[in-house]
Amino acid sequence: KIRVRYAPSPTGHLHIGNARTALFNYLFARHNKGTFVIRIEDTDTKRNIADGENSQLDNLKWLGMDWDEGPDKPGDFGPYRQSERREIYTPLIEELVAKGLAYESYKTEDELTAEREAQKAAGEAPRYIYEYEGMSDDEIKASQAAAKAKGLQPVVRLRLPKNHVYKFDDIVKGEISFESDRLGGDFVIMKRDGMPTYNFAVVVDDHLMEITHVLRGDDHIANTPKQLAVYEAFGWEPPVFGHMTLIINTETGKKLSKRDESVLQFIEQYRELGYLPEAMFNFIALLGWSPVGESELFNRQEFIKQFDPKRLSKSPASFDQKKLEWVNNQYVKKTDANKIMDLSLASLIKAGKIAENPDSKTIEWARHLIALYQDQMSYTAQIVEMADVFFEEPEQLDAQALEELNNETAPVVLKEFSERLKDLTLFTAPRIMQIIKGIQKDTKIKGRQLYMPIRIATTREMHGPSLPDSIELLGKDRVLAHLEKTLA
Ligand code: GLU
Repeated sequence: KIRVRYAPSPTGHLHIGNARTALFNYLFARHNKGTFVIRIEDTDTKRNIADGENSQLDNLKWLGMDWDEGPDKPGDFGPYRQSERREIYTPLIEELVAKGLAYESYKTEDELTAEREAQKAAGEAPRYIYEYEGMSDDEIKASQAAAKAKGLQPVVRLRLPKNHVYKFDDIVKGEISFESDRLGGDFVIMKRDGMPTYNFAVVVDDHLMEITHVLRGDDHIANTPKQLAVYEAFGWEPPVFGHMTLIINTETGKKLSKRDESVLQFIEQYRELGYLPEAMFNFIALLGWSPVGESELFNRQEFIKQFDPKRLSKSPASFDQKKLEWVNNQYVKKTDANKIMDLSLASLIKAGKIAENPDSKTIEWARHLIALYQDQMSYTAQIVEMADVFFEEPEQLDAQALEELNNETAPVVLKEFSERLKDLTLFTAPRIMQIIKGIQKDTKIKGRQLYMPIRIATTREMHGPSLPDSIELLGKDRVLAHLEKTLA
């Protein structure tokens, strides 16, 4: 039975890259009717942020994922927070020390820094140099006792075998091997504060939680041999590994990094802009994975049905925010108008375009307005800019618009339109359309020469949604004032 996990560190909010890791694990579990576990890796207490765990879980749920076991969903393998599993790790570390497979190391941080600096100056890769070289067991014990007596706190290091090769068959990358001598020396499994390190805790947890497959980002590839060393020390069977390729930001051509500000990278940011979770799910599922065939739009069930980790891409995935906008627009178009209305109205209120708690007249007006833009919006917060003419008195007409009005027929059309509008009592789009048609019939002016001057004069822009609807939404007073201003 397949058991996979997503193991976030609550050091920040849910990032696109992490969301992808979670998503592929989720799809793999659901496709195989397996179990999806969430485990919080919070041993690096200094880096944890207050709302980290909550916000990670909340955004995963928003994206449409659910899990079978996790900190909020007790199962048989808990606790699901590493900070609550210290009683599990400590005896296991003691076991390795008792067997001589790990040992207490008293080199101080200053000594370690000096060591690394000397290595750097010599052009060597940094590595921990064994502090008990050439000592007998008794001498080692004496040295440790002396350090302890001085009040020094040890870390515990795993003893790496010499001339050993760690090999694994990665689902994505194929066979990978690392030499034990190139891992930077015996590494820390327990920190001075008694907390296990990531490379230790992850192995213990994956083993005890009976994880069968580890799918994660390839920034963890270099950790894998260290983790294999821990599996070997305990004599445990490692899971199958799959390391997903990195994500390249198409904007910069570089690896997507949290510090890169050219694109939005946190799920929350998209959520605030009114992106739809189904669209985000769809987009993220295609970051480094492809289904059979050409289509790019799938729902959750289709992804679950199709997901096969063999189709995880070997080349970097590209993160293209423009494509995400396109995908989201595809979903916005087919989403129920009421839902789009709610999201867009929230954006308009947030932007201060509509007052809070709008009355029913304003709501109906906004519903009409938003419906006009639904098909064009990449995401609903765009309504704020797109519909700006309905909220702000526009600036002077630009040169191109003025040029459009600079002919013989424009003033004729505008005068007629203005006159006929004044008499209109029922100010609705169909009535407005009738007036435009009437002008065409009476003046024989048609097409662009008829519509463009009216559009520019009333909406102050050359492009926009349906003209009669726009005029209705602007309202009679504003439209007449705009016409007057243009004719003056
Ligand atoms: N806590 C690790 C991270 O957030 C998880 C690594 C793993 O999946 O093993 O990167």
